[in-house]
Amino acid sequence: MRWVMVGAAGRMGQAITQLASTQSQWHCVGAIDRIADAARGITTDLSSVLPGAEVMIDFSSPSQTAANLARCAEQGVAALIGTTGLGEDVEAAAAAAAQRIPVLIAANTSLGVTLLAELVRAAARALPPTFDIEIFEAHHRHKKDAPSGTALALGRAAAGGRGQSLDEVAVAPRGAGERKNGEIGFSVLRSGDIVGDHAVYFAGEGERLVLQHQATDRTIFARGALQAASWLVGRPAGRYSMSDVIGLKTIS
Ligand code: NAD
Repeated sequence: MRWVMVGAAGRMGQAITQLASTQSQWHCVGAIDRIADAARGITTDLSSVLPGAEVMIDFSSPSQTAANLARCAEQGVAALIGTTGLGEDVEAAAAAAAQRIPVLIAANTSLGVTLLAELVRAAARALPPTFDIEIFEAHHRHKKDAPSGTALALGRAAAGGRGQSLDEVAVAPRGAGERKNGEIGFSVLRSGDIVGDHAVYFAGEGERLVLQHQATDRTIFARGALQAASWLVGRPAGRYSMSDVIGLKTIS
């Protein structure tokens, strides 16, 4: 599989590149970052490495995501976007690109979080609205966006389970004052080297259900990213999710 890594010098770029180097089917045809590094084979021009590639994996920063999707669409290269904190421009770019190539945008590529989101959707659908939904996330001190893309995706799953859109009910950050019915609140912790903890609380009168996931090693994201990238190659043009990759869209 001929692939291109965008964000190659970063924590995730290195983890994915390292894992791919241990699997014989992966052949890296481009390692892209903001600053070239000849010693590590890293260059800065995505357009020059895309021709001939089958899939781009992008774990970088949101500023170029829309442009990168457009370049992949031009070259017929499948796109896996793991970058979080994406702006609204990316949604339109993804919709346009998905007319021509398979596109998967995942704030979290781990198997556990993919399953967690499906469980959260099912719990939100099953429990009455008297159960308050709150989402907690913790990450390392270098993380730039907050709440995390994963926390927002879990919020979308919870709101979706209740037949709502997250925009209608999200509260982030939570300030002082009494909680309103139906809100979905977000709490954020940044500290040390935490890879990523997420917990979704469903708190009713006299009982509390907590669905949670703790990542202790970013290899889980790398493994899921390579699984998703491999799955995307050869698919028809369109939008896909990690649940499609793992075949989990069956929980109801
Ligand atoms: P990082 O800061 O260690 O690495 C990001 C890299 O991208 C850096 O080397 C930076 O120079 C490079 N970069 C930034 N803008 C670029 C651009 N326009 N073109 C090329 N390279 C660019 O961050 P990280 O921990 O590797 O995370 C990267 C992204 O992936 C973040 O958005 C993070 O939230 C997300 N992430 C997603 C998952 C997931 O499962 N989807 C898991 C972990 C992190």
